[in-house]
Amino acid sequence: MLRRLRAVMAEPVNAQSRLDRIVVLIASNMVAEVCSVYIQRADGELELYGTEGLNPEAVHNMTMKPGEGLVGLIVSTAEPVALADAQSHPAFSFKSESGEESYHSFLGVPILRGGNVLGVLVVQNRARRIYTEEEVEALQTTAMLLAEMVATGELQSLGKPGTDTSLKRQMALQGTPITEGVGLGYAVLHQPRVTIKQLIAEDVNAELIRLEAAVTAMRERLDTLIDTATGTGEQRDVLETFRMFAHDAGWKRRLQEAVRSGLTAEAAVERVQNDARAKLQRQTDPYMRERLHDLDDLADRLLHQLTGVSFTQRNEDLPDNAILIARTMGPAALLEYNRNQLRGLILEDGGASSHVAIVARALGIPCVGDVANINDLVSEGDAVILDGGTGEVQLRPSPDIESAYKEKVRLRASRQEQYRKLRDLPAKTLDGVEIGLHMNAGLLVDLPQVAESGALSIGLFRTELQFMLAPQFPRLDEQFNFYKNIMDAVKDRPVTFRTLDIGSDKVLPYMKKVEEENPALGWRAIRIGLDRPGFLRPQLRAMLRAGAGRRMRIMFPMVATVGEFIAAREIVEMEKSHLKRHGHVMPEQVELGVMVEVPSLLWQLEELCAEVDFISVGSNDLSQYIFAADRDNKRVSTRFDPLSAPFLRALQSIVTAADRAGTPVSLCGEMGGKVLEAMALVALGYRGLSMSPAAIGPVKAMILALDASDAAQFIENELRTGGDQPSLRQPLRRYAEARAIPI
Ligand code: PEP
Ligand code: MG
Repeated sequence: MLRRLRAVMAEPVNAQSRLDRIVVLIASNMVAEVCSVYIQRADGELELYGTEGLNPEAVHNMTMKPGEGLVGLIVSTAEPVALADAQSHPAFSFKSESGEESYHSFLGVPILRGGNVLGVLVVQNRARRIYTEEEVEALQTTAMLLAEMVATGELQSLGKPGTDTSLKRQMALQGTPITEGVGLGYAVLHQPRVTIKQLIAEDVNAELIRLEAAVTAMRERLDTLIDTATGTGEQRDVLETFRMFAHDAGWKRRLQEAVRSGLTAEAAVERVQNDARAKLQRQTDPYMRERLHDLDDLADRLLHQLTGVSFTQRNEDLPDNAILIARTMGPAALLEYNRNQLRGLILEDGGASSHVAIVARALGIPCVGDVANINDLVSEGDAVILDGGTGEVQLRPSPDIESAYKEKVRLRASRQEQYRKLRDLPAKTLDGVEIGLHMNAGLLVDLPQVAESGALSIGLFRTELQFMLAPQFPRLDEQFNFYKNIMDAVKDRPVTFRTLDIGSDKVLPYMKKVEEENPALGWRAIRIGLDRPGFLRPQLRAMLRAGAGRRMRIMFPMVATVGEFIAAREIVEMEKSHLKRHGHVMPEQVELGVMVEVPSLLWQLEELCAEVDFISVGSNDLSQYIFAADRDNKRVSTRFDPLSAPFLRALQSIVTAADRAGTPVSLCGEMGGKVLEAMALVALGYRGLSMSPAAIGPVKAMILALDASDAAQFIENELRTGGDQPSLRQPLRRYAEARAIPI
């Protein structure tokens, strides 16, 4: 059948005639009375594009809504459906215009490309019959051909006027917002997709030999990689997983079967990869996702092996306004691109806490994460727009969409200009309350922002980022130089260093990963620091030496008891005496603080404040633990609102206790950088906020228009009387709007 299909593909006829011949051919080959092709339009509806056996009038006139009927079911599951008695299936939906009432058996397969369902290919028989597995497979392979026709745009002109089916169509996608900013430019694929030129094998045996050679070569490369890897446990584990999959007999058998069905070796890999991707999309279990990812990655390697295209970085021919698109990316890889030419970064599989996202944020590159299938939907050079503030991605935008975003960029620029004017003004409320606005940082590239944003100081320096990006554990002198550079760069503005906050989602590539059921509740941050002084002591020593002759601040993450702080302070004291003994210049002053991010501290505030020099609320973790909702799990991370009464009351109790004890308190979680949230925090009594530098302007503008004591009364009243409402977000927004406070 494939040979005959190839002949039809080569005929110099128009697309509709070709499709009409294809459906006839498939129907006769499958001994079916009906063969139909449905293509998904941009609006999600499935349009009948061609049929043998159903009413020809229905072509381009009959559509199915997304999810409607068996065809809709195939689209939503991306899996074949084979039924001897279709009409008794609960999903069956009867369309009078099709004339299909007399057909009992039904076999439909998705038309897949890169894991995306582009349409559905169906055969139907009058008699009640059971389709064999071979028939299902054969139809799936045929569907690949149709996928190529859609992808090359050949079917584009056929749809009902006004509809558009090509993969090249304009598309709006939604991802997770990571770094603020709008970027307009042209797609650059971090790992360009391999295009397969020939799908159907000329000579099956020759293709089997090519496949065998490629699999062997790929296995050998992996073996060499593993044998020469100096890497740590985790890297080895990843490689071992690859090796295990690469040697998987079932995987190879599936590839061989696909070749025997008449495909070239490349097409066979794509065929098997399609299945993996389609499964990947529906998989929510993180472990299984990871495994399917490995399989997908492996198929990618095999494709590159077969086509001789290597993964290369193409910095030289990077356009001036590149929007970089990657499935995932190591954090160091991003640093290798020329920052000035990057207008944005879009990640297919990587959310706000992925390492590359952290780097993108530090570099101020607009970034959107978790954009499903972007790599398959976009081609190198396509026009792309992203909005890192909302998570919107526009592919091949129409001129009106483009001008709307350009307007957004202009607006943003003029707003930035206004914020720049506010830069040197103190953040003082209308009633004269001064709020300290500080910035969060973690990399050297962050430092110019201190002056540009007008931040009073670095209120949170996440030291783990340096450790996460390094190829091995940074030596004492490397740490010392790093901390010294930071303090030198910000001169008289103080820096609050936080000691290593690793574990959970923050993994050091060179440190053996501890397998834990619940890493967020596991061995992390200060817990590791106290159990393994080999980490904490050199870090403190490096910090204290770097702080010679200066005032400095150090705080500890994930402290759950006052005792932990006291133990950490003892280590600081030990390091201080060590430095003194060795004749080093001591810091002029060392203030020690605690991140309040474990709820147990809420009931030790009095004791805690008696011991520490300052506290800083880590609202990201505090809300994750208070609501028992994983901050990195998309299903639950936005389920609870930090502007709801329980969380606001928790925050209030912290600031009240700290004020009573006279202990300086600030907040350094993401909340502090969101304008409405920041307004609530000022109303609760917070006088210090540390945030990403881009947030300082908007937060300052809000503060300048706020009456702090009036806001305090308002929130107090809301918490007393409106505590049963799900969130105070609406009342707070109304409060701001009524007073023209810019939020
Ligand atoms: C927090 O938990 O709020 C915080 C500031 O620290 P991180 O986001 O690094 O855990
Ligand atoms: Mg934290």
